[in-house]
Amino acid sequence: MIKGVSYFGVRSPRLALMDMEGIKAAGFNAVLHTWSEEDQQYYFDTMKQIVDGTADLGLDVYVNPWGVGRVFGGEAYSELSARNHDLCQVALDGKPKVAACPNHPEFRAYMHKWIETVCATKVSTIFWDEPHFYFEKGGLQNWSCRCPVCREKFHKQFGYEMPAVTFDQMPPDQARDVKRFREESLIDFLKEMTDDVHARGKRNCVCMLPPWFPAGLDDWSKVARLESVDEVASDPYWEKGASEEWVREKYAETARKLTEVAAKHGKAVQMWIKAYQIEAGRENDLAIAVEESRKAGIENIFAWSYRGTETLSWLKSDRPDEVARVFRKAVGSI
Ligand SMILES: [Zn+2]
Repeated sequence: MIKGVSYFGVRSPRLALMDMEGIKAAGFNAVLHTWSEEDQQYYFDTMKQIVDGTADLGLDVYVNPWGVGRVFGGEAYSELSARNHDLCQVALDGKPKVAACPNHPEFRAYMHKWIETVCATKVSTIFWDEPHFYFEKGGLQNWSCRCPVCREKFHKQFGYEMPAVTFDQMPPDQARDVKRFREESLIDFLKEMTDDVHARGKRNCVCMLPPWFPAGLDDWSKVARLESVDEVASDPYWEKGASEEWVREKYAETARKLTEVAAKHGKAVQMWIKAYQIEAGRENDLAIAVEESRKAGIENIFAWSYRGTETLSWLKSDRPDEVARVFRKAVGSI
């Protein structure tokens, strides 16, 4: 069984590797290190020491493009889209967003550079974390992307102008075309990136946002069927205040969906357990999420993040020690 946690926020190799030793001693055998635009620009040797040192301890290392271009999940800022507005996604409201467009050739070139850099370490698996088109909670109707690159590509493919209204206002056939365009854009992007990673001898895991977010990637089998994708994952995290039943139900449902699609295409499966913003007294939710994932046969379970995400105050759990203890017990006692 693969048991892991994500780790970020410490860029001292000495201190990070002390934590890695602690993680190993606690019975984990895998770690995910985040690699942001900032890491890419300023911390290559530091990150290489951290990643290689982790692998040398015998831990399996995953690395994700943390918030890179804001196409992926994560709290890291994107300077890339701030510097070059040409590669920004444009939403229905006509405004450029703080997110790069996965169809833009310059963003793709940046990602190939990122892959080349990260794959020069002892990473085993590149973790494509929540690839999505830009959306804002509370304004989900304001879809992206209507940048010039996307509009031209859409016109070429479908023979008419990309609609400039909400999905609800589009005739059904146009809504279908736009959804298909968004999905195919992400699949095409992932194909190109995962092929590059495979060519460098590393694995790929794609983590898909749960279906209640308008990521643009609804059909998970299209991801699982990509030749260079080795593993599929998801992270059906609960909102603060969700009931235990909600946690149980959504983890069971997502685990089933993942294992089905993975089995059909011969891929490995991984599940992510929420370990941030956990309120005092609700730590057992982690055990429920692990239990439902295990019931579906998932043998690769990670928590986001190390010690209840205590280094990021916005996401910190009330009782980091208790969150860590419950997760360790849940994956260890199986
Ligand atoms: Zn675009």
